[in-house]
Amino acid sequence: MNIIFYHPFFNSEEWLAGLSQRLPQAKVRAWQPGDDRPADYALVWRPPHEMLANRRQLKGVFALGAGVDAILDQERQYPGTLPAGVPLLRLEDTGMAQQMQEYALSYVLRYFRRFDEYQLLQQQQEWRPLDPHQQDSFTIGILGAGVLGKSVAQKLTALGFNVRCWSRSPKQIDGVQSFAGDGQRAAFLDGVQLLINLLPNTPETAGILNQALFAHLAPGAYLINLARGAHLVEDDLLQALEQGQLAAATLDVFVTEPLPQAHPFWRHPRVTITPHIAAITLPEAAMDQIAANILALEAGQTPAGVVDVQLGY
Ligand code: NDP
Repeated sequence: MNIIFYHPFFNSEEWLAGLSQRLPQAKVRAWQPGDDRPADYALVWRPPHEMLANRRQLKGVFALGAGVDAILDQERQYPGTLPAGVPLLRLEDTGMAQQMQEYALSYVLRYFRRFDEYQLLQQQQEWRPLDPHQQDSFTIGILGAGVLGKSVAQKLTALGFNVRCWSRSPKQIDGVQSFAGDGQRAAFLDGVQLLINLLPNTPETAGILNQALFAHLAPGAYLINLARGAHLVEDDLLQALEQGQLAAATLDVFVTEPLPQAHPFWRHPRVTITPHIAAITLPEAAMDQIAANILALEAGQTPAGVVDVQLGY
């Protein structure tokens, strides 16, 4: 079995060693431009077009992250980047769910306890207790109820928050109100005080965080975008903050990454920025899952994590 690996900035030696240890029957190599030697499996992040084009003999392509939008965008731009008929698999959880829980919880509590406002008051040396938010009226909405959205919903529910989620298909998550499909989107959004985005970036969801959506939320709502920059219409956010329609936003992902120096988000007092670190790929857990999935494919089984290329996630 031959495995090729390509990631623009991961330490390939660590991955080659870890994969060889887990799959001793495999020959694992870092793909270099010009390498057209046979391969059974490819592990990739933003693969150059020539890496996979024409490799119809591949049995699986593994994305080295949870989202596959960058790979599918490349396929749209350079058709054939993904060989037709070869399954594309993504990472499911591999330690990302806990990281998302930690991130979401940190910023939910920051806004719920109004620590963001106390930070601004401190800068003005102003001693002013604010009215606290009440948990029962502080409705949290989560866009996306997949591996990550569901786990964040469960964490926040366990802490007593009033949580609802929105997905394509209805969900049964203890204590969480489920809304599904475009028909229930407005009902989901109405009255939400804090919105967390954990949708995949697809042609259907791109630009979903826009003026029309903000108008449904409770006045002075908070936004936490943990999914992709392409979900957010950045000018609409600036306008909603200016008008007080939104109180504050925490953003981990951006249309352009790294965020350009001149971008107004950097200096906006109501915008908090992190550099796309909400949930990173943990190599050991990711390699465990990929190796197990390769063995499942070899055994003729269909492992979890196979992407529906038509839907885009
Ligand atoms: P999943 O595929 O498990 O979940 C996606 C969820 O979105 C599902 O509940 C799905 O509904 C829902 N969904 C998709 N399209 C629509 C639509 N058109 N309308 C309504 N609901 C929709 O993904 P994960 O939870 O694993 O990951 C989510 C995203 O998080 C990733 O795609 C990635 O972009 C982002 N991410 C960001 C990271 C960061 O560090 N900032 C790290 C890791 C991931 P249904 O269940 O019905 O199919």
